Amino acid sequence: MQYRKDKHGDDISILGYGCMRFTNKNGKIDLDKAEKEILEAYKNGVNYYDTAYIYPGSEVTLGTILSKNNIRDKVKIATKLPQYMISNKKSLDSFFNEELSRLKTDYVDYYLMHHLTDYVQWEKLKNVGIIDWIKEKKQNGQIKNIGFSYHGNSEMFIKILEDYDWDFCQIQYNYLDENSQAGRKGLNRAGELGIPVMIMEPLRGGKLVGMLPEGAKKLIVENDRHYSAAEWSFRWLFNQKDVTCVLSGMNSIEMVLENCRIADSSKVDQFNEADYAFIEKIIKEIKAKEKVGCTGCRYCMPCVKGIDIPGTFNAYNRMYTESKHDGRFQYAQAVALRKDAAFVTACIKCGKCEKHCPQSIPIREKLVEADKALRPLHYKVGINVVRAFMLRKG
Ligand code: SF4
Ligand code: SF4
Repeated sequence: MQYRKDKHGDDISILGYGCMRFTNKNGKIDLDKAEKEILEAYKNGVNYYDTAYIYPGSEVTLGTILSKNNIRDKVKIATKLPQYMISNKKSLDSFFNEELSRLKTDYVDYYLMHHLTDYVQWEKLKNVGIIDWIKEKKQNGQIKNIGFSYHGNSEMFIKILEDYDWDFCQIQYNYLDENSQAGRKGLNRAGELGIPVMIMEPLRGGKLVGMLPEGAKKLIVENDRHYSAAEWSFRWLFNQKDVTCVLSGMNSIEMVLENCRIADSSKVDQFNEADYAFIEKIIKEIKAKEKVGCTGCRYCMPCVKGIDIPGTFNAYNRMYTESKHDGRFQYAQAVALRKDAAFVTACIKCGKCEKHCPQSIPIREKLVEADKALRPLHYKVGINVVRAFMLRKG
């Protein structure tokens, strides 16, 4: 196993264990199977284990396995505060203490604000006193490192990143998301600030493996490197120095061993021009089904009415390259649930954006089309309800 450093100089295995996808048996987590898999990963040098309050049964399973095998102090536990459920300072303690008890530990190595998508959520946490709370927890040793996991756009990510002295952060990142969510721009900004970045969804929930289009699968089989689809994804990430740890939700011994092998043999800057060109070819195959040829370059931004043009097109395309649900979910996370969200209906058709688009996209027309697909009536209602809940005062 190879290791990269966290902010305080501790070693983090470049492959982390994502504890969200343990195998279920008879309606609950198969503890024996999860134990074997975790111990195999541990034996192979994986020292970072990521869970969350809301992953059903995950914290208890991880805590039980670590304490039973007496390895709690040999590994790093990362878990998350369900920040969307916090309304006052008291509830911070109540969630945190419950997590400690589930994890059978008296401290958390890496504690994250779970699933931030907008600065307003962080602002709300600050209003309930989280800064003092973090200070207390760090002083008494109950939290070693503080961070956040993120799913909004890169601008908002950087705003949150620069607003506090974070020890680390966690982003969704893979070769298809290079220009969406926090993206390479966000990753590199974290690198400049010396903030370690943990990566989630390296395989886009399996979409860069089993659900690849046939054309992409064929290209992978024929390539001289003889890497598997997963291997291309992992190596693309390990290749980047600003990536500290890549999380993988491993649920078989074979997967643990294979991922450890890849992590052990990957290097920063190991990709050559042919490798980058190959990844581009795969992306092209995946994007063949896209509705708008938007590259996410953002030259059209800012829109005079605040509409997130690339964010809207990205989600619209995802409806056709992945699934309708994935596209609409992505739209809700990255666009519609932001405090400053402006919907396509606000467009005044000034055409300013189109003058700057290197792809000559008829942005005004395509936005209307995208909005229709992304926000059918029942989604509009749902988005309004969630916005009212999320944006309430803390
Ligand atoms: S045409 Fe619409 S989307 Fe484009 S800049 Fe003007 S208001 Fe924004
Ligand atoms: S300028 Fe064109 S290609 Fe670039 S983000 Fe805007 S719409 Fe997409």
